[in-house]
Amino acid sequence: MAAVSHEGERVLRGIPVSNGVCRGKLLVWRKAEAEVPHWELREDEIPAEIERLERALVATRQQLLDVQRRVREVMGAQEAGIFDAHLLVLEDRVLVDEVTRLITEERLNAEYAYHLVAQKYMAALAAVEDEYLRERVADMRDVTARVLSHLMGRAHGVELAHLHEPVILVAHDLTPSDTVQMDKSKVLGFATEVGSQTSHTAILARSLGLPAVVGIPHALRELETGQYALLDGFNGLLILHPSDQTLFEYGQLVRRQLTLEEKLREVVDQPAVTLDGHRVWVLANIEQAEDVEAVRLSGAEGVGLFRTEYLYINRDHPPDEEEQFQAYRKVAVALRPQPVIVRTLDLGGDKFLSHLVAQQEMNPFLGWRAIRLCLQQPEMFGAQLRAILRASAEGNVKLMYPMISGLEELCQANELLEQCKAQLRERGQPFNESIEIGAMIEIPSAALVADALARRVRFFSIGTNDLIQYALAVDRMNERIAHLYEPTHPAILRLIRRTVEAAEAQGLRVSVCGEMAGEPVLVPLLLGLGVHELSAAPPLVPRIKYVIRRIRMAEARALAQWALECESAREILQRSRDLAREAAPLLFEARTVTL
Ligand code: PEP
Ligand code: MG
Repeated sequence: MAAVSHEGERVLRGIPVSNGVCRGKLLVWRKAEAEVPHWELREDEIPAEIERLERALVATRQQLLDVQRRVREVMGAQEAGIFDAHLLVLEDRVLVDEVTRLITEERLNAEYAYHLVAQKYMAALAAVEDEYLRERVADMRDVTARVLSHLMGRAHGVELAHLHEPVILVAHDLTPSDTVQMDKSKVLGFATEVGSQTSHTAILARSLGLPAVVGIPHALRELETGQYALLDGFNGLLILHPSDQTLFEYGQLVRRQLTLEEKLREVVDQPAVTLDGHRVWVLANIEQAEDVEAVRLSGAEGVGLFRTEYLYINRDHPPDEEEQFQAYRKVAVALRPQPVIVRTLDLGGDKFLSHLVAQQEMNPFLGWRAIRLCLQQPEMFGAQLRAILRASAEGNVKLMYPMISGLEELCQANELLEQCKAQLRERGQPFNESIEIGAMIEIPSAALVADALARRVRFFSIGTNDLIQYALAVDRMNERIAHLYEPTHPAILRLIRRTVEAAEAQGLRVSVCGEMAGEPVLVPLLLGLGVHELSAAPPLVPRIKYVIRRIRMAEARALAQWALECESAREILQRSRDLAREAAPLLFEARTVTL
């Protein structure tokens, strides 16, 4: 609920997920409304509008046929049959005639006319007794979304590509396909109704170094575009019409932040070594080849996680081998001899090639995702593997599989990799014959069989974002249960420790590339558990180094040893916080504000 504190000022509370403070105008992005613009046509515009409608129907038909073909190839004829129903809806003459009538007689633009007629149909279908007919509502909704997106001549979320002034973006949620084309230079911060520490909005905000607050109840209802607000990503507040007193308080906080940033700049060129001489490697997570500059500026010692899905989303066809090779090569060359760990495709979950998969799965995070999807799409996966292999000839590239749940998937992936190597040899294209292959440990079963996996890879990278969600059965995107998403839960610490032990037995290195690695409070605990490397969003890298350079490894080990015996996630968090705060008080003082 919104709380009123100072006069005229309203404070909305959410979950702080990315540090920083910004002030500016709000842009309240209501996706559904934004997608159906409404205007009146001039008489002479009507014929062209009908033509536009027809072109959109033809394009939608072609798209449905394409999707149907691909589904048939991958999933079989029965699943592909769903699209026959979609095609029938699309070609329904009564519906199309009604839309045409609204365009000619009511002078409505085609998208609005189609939207109105489709809404009427859906309401009528939803009300009938017949179950078969009721189920057609979903077909109708899908077809309508496709027709509208063709009519508007833009992909999902494209309006975010044309922001006219700097704004604090308020939305229900922001998915990768919403943000991939967003003009990030015009965004001051993010505020969303749903989400948690590891949802896409949070990860994106941290990688851009922007403040973000998620899980603000009813933000879309409470807020309007154009209102002036202050967003506090340290404390999870969105303050509408901030008073002079509030602005003064935040002015102080921003000054403390600037002092801190100066201190942080000093560690950029320094290694992450603890006070008692223990060397740690701090790397960066990236999502696009262009992020390489941010990696350099952050002082990271390479890329610990290159999320490659962003090359694939918001397009109907995957990028080919050459396009991917160029992207991976760019990063490898720019950073060599530093390592670049390219993670193979992790589509599914909240990242999709089209909306097809999302709509058909009950539990996308437990579904057709990442390595599972790739192993069933050997042609697409092969192209990516070859692209990564080729990039390994030009820099220190390593390859990592996501969402490995057991030995079989790892072996299958490696088999395909060997075939790809053979193909490259045949083509005479160079690659690093001893490229290091790693597995992400982000499913509890992988942590439990880490000893077997360790015999077949060269490194592990623990994906705590997923490991926590799967081990604790807490949806990483759901703000309602965000309080249950506890990185310091004893079960998580034991899974991490077990992974480290399995790795150490084979002389492997272990990194953490989930969001846990970027939280200074948790860094000593992870090191104490035996983790060798940390990888986080570039803006977080200096903070991690700063903490590492102020702690003793002996203290970190003692903390971890105690934590492995402790039964309470909260107590572990509290002790971790005490240690980090004592070692690096500046990091904590700079974020408090007394409202
Ligand atoms: C993780 O799960 O911790 C991880 C790094 O992968 P992603 O956030 O891309 O799922
Ligand atoms: Mg993951």
